Amino acid sequence: MLLATDLDGTFLDGDTEQRHQLYQLIASHPEIRLVFVTGRGLESVMPLLADPAIPKPEYIISDVGCTIADGETLQPVYEVQQKVEDKWPGEYAIVEALEHIPGLTRQDVPQERRCSYFCKPEDMTDEIYEIGERLNCDVLYSASWYLDFLPKDVNKGSTLRALTEYLKVDDKDVLVAGDTLNDLSMFQYGFKGVCVGRSEPGLLEATEGQAMVYHAEEPGCGGILESFSHFGFLGEAGIEAEIGEPVEPGKSDLVIVYHRLPYEEYVENGKQKRRNPTSPNGIIPTLMSFFADGKKGSWVAWSIHDPKLGAFETHTTVDKEKYPNLVAARVGLSKKEVDIFYKRFSKEAFWPTLHTFWERASFREDHWQVFLEVNRKFAERAAEEAAEGATIWIHDYNLWMVPAYLREIRPDVKIAFFHHTYFPSADVFNVLPWRRDIVGSLLQCDYIGFHIPRQSENFVDVARGVAPMTVLKKENCAPRFLSYGCAVGLDEMTTDIEVHGRHIRLGAHPVGLDINRVSSALEDNDIQQLMAQLRQELAGKRLILSVERLDYTKGILEKLEAFERLLEEYPEMQDKVTLVTVCVPAAKEMTIYNKLQNQIEQAVGRINGKFARIGWTPIQFFFRAVPFERLVAYYAMADVMWITPLRDGLNLVAKEYIATQGMTEGRGVLVLSEFAGAAAELKGAVLCNPHDPFELMTSCHHALTLHEDEARNRLREAYDIVRHYDIAFWGKCFLESVNETYEPEPDDSVVKIA
Ligand code: UDP
Repeated sequence: MLLATDLDGTFLDGDTEQRHQLYQLIASHPEIRLVFVTGRGLESVMPLLADPAIPKPEYIISDVGCTIADGETLQPVYEVQQKVEDKWPGEYAIVEALEHIPGLTRQDVPQERRCSYFCKPEDMTDEIYEIGERLNCDVLYSASWYLDFLPKDVNKGSTLRALTEYLKVDDKDVLVAGDTLNDLSMFQYGFKGVCVGRSEPGLLEATEGQAMVYHAEEPGCGGILESFSHFGFLGEAGIEAEIGEPVEPGKSDLVIVYHRLPYEEYVENGKQKRRNPTSPNGIIPTLMSFFADGKKGSWVAWSIHDPKLGAFETHTTVDKEKYPNLVAARVGLSKKEVDIFYKRFSKEAFWPTLHTFWERASFREDHWQVFLEVNRKFAERAAEEAAEGATIWIHDYNLWMVPAYLREIRPDVKIAFFHHTYFPSADVFNVLPWRRDIVGSLLQCDYIGFHIPRQSENFVDVARGVAPMTVLKKENCAPRFLSYGCAVGLDEMTTDIEVHGRHIRLGAHPVGLDINRVSSALEDNDIQQLMAQLRQELAGKRLILSVERLDYTKGILEKLEAFERLLEEYPEMQDKVTLVTVCVPAAKEMTIYNKLQNQIEQAVGRINGKFARIGWTPIQFFFRAVPFERLVAYYAMADVMWITPLRDGLNLVAKEYIATQGMTEGRGVLVLSEFAGAAAELKGAVLCNPHDPFELMTSCHHALTLHEDEARNRLREAYDIVRHYDIAFWGKCFLESVNETYEPEPDDSVVKIA
């Protein structure tokens, strides 16, 4: 069957439950061909296409019948569109002809192949009708205010008729649905029709007594469902049975959806084994702490499903003693799926774009399909775990599409999302081919957190380009964050928006540090010995430290070049400063990093070759991961910590350095890129623009020559921040903010669009 439906007042209206029921029904019946037939311009329909809760139409008839587009490609259906085009004199022929008529104001909404004005009744002169006649247009005047110029004899019904002829659909298989006189033309071509409840009296009158037209009781989607039964669409079995059983709620009040399990899995002698994570980052223990005191919960994460290892266990315990009621709910993925979803696609398509290196990104539709499939599996597992009204906390861009699937299966849950990675401005983000789907999915959340206000505001800007949005609340960013003092600062951020009738709250929550990890490392005997050894080795030399993963976002090459320039322009620094660089290699599969690695190795060779003397190597380059505890020893010894990413979501290393120096009463100076999220937060750091080679060099020189007292003051300021806003604060504050989420009244979830 073909369902041709008006939008506002019809398909987008009615009781929330009935809307959900109709949308589900359409989603589960691919034989229902859906056509939107609307007075809106095509551009005003696009936001609906990004909303995963609304089924996608196969065709869109917009502009009251003047535009006909394919629902997938949004390209015109040429064979039908041409008939309209042939009659259309062109927008500016009408605009120019009406120019001298007083009292007309053009409606400022998207419109094509029609011209819409506002006009008072006293300004509606015969001349306006004469102009219409001369230009071969229909002139429609309604509600004593709306004036429309349309191509002659084009309306919703005529274009729908042309479409059904083009598609060769039998009239008896077409159901039209509407609620205003605007829709009347659809009822005049012999299709079956439903005027939904609360239809305009004029429409009801005009269709009264037509055998093929049903006047429903229920408004909106409820009326369409009623007409399905009335006309016997979808057979005798009834509509209820067609939708399928809803997902049974699970038992967990809090469900964490994180790509990694809270423990590490490995295979030994053909058996799957587990151990504590070898590279804990503080986030996992913090998230687990929410399940202390026997609190019930689930941790959804992927695990490789290798049939050779026997049956796949969907549920495992995490730590029976500490968290007796926390289960890991594993999402079984094949090795290929993991490689594509996690190691390739995320790193090749999303990572570069998110970090504003969009020209390095490569997009593959087949990889996107794998990404969708994996996200769907995560959503289904989370849906099974969550108790009625539970909070589901999803982490990071690998799981962007989870909210879309989740909201469909579990409308009752509270969805929270934390974005761990940088979020760029619309100019960059919009390069992603799937931006509408991604934003549409995120807009299903109740709460979205980013590290800093700038990232959150960038998201708001991106979302505004996808759907009409009402900003409900804004807050000042100071004093917690820098306003004008760094490249990623912002004075004001949006904290509450409404899109398609849903409220979404936003917040800035920079991830904090697990301070105890640093203090335990400092107390460790081996680390103390290492510090003593380093002290000896470095005697008489200043230490500049740089720690990061191998990644073009981290600006490693630029930093090495700045160091070279520093030694050239300040020769007195030669033999006095050593740059120790810890660079963690990328996984073998991530071949995109090979070139950068070569360039870095060459630069280190060149600089050392140029300046080294007996007893002094300017750059000591460690191309391997250093265990955290040993890093802390380096942090304690470093006079300057030089962290200059070109773009970074946050940067924990900066905080680890500050904490170590703070705890050891040091006077080290942090030189931090103003493009790292942490720069918006860490007052006291010496900020620099790493895109400017000169400033990159001078800020390092400034740090090396800073007065001791100033260095201590700066450190104290930054340490206070790191200590106060630690990882426990982050987790607690995020969840508290989620729980403050606006609770919509049942009627508030009705889609209403300007
Ligand atoms: N790290 C480590 N060993 C190394 C280098 C880094 O344990 O050799 C840790 C470091 O202590 C920090 C994390 O890796 O906790 C890096 O986090 P950051 O936010 O700075 O950067 P990301 O890698 O997330 O971009």
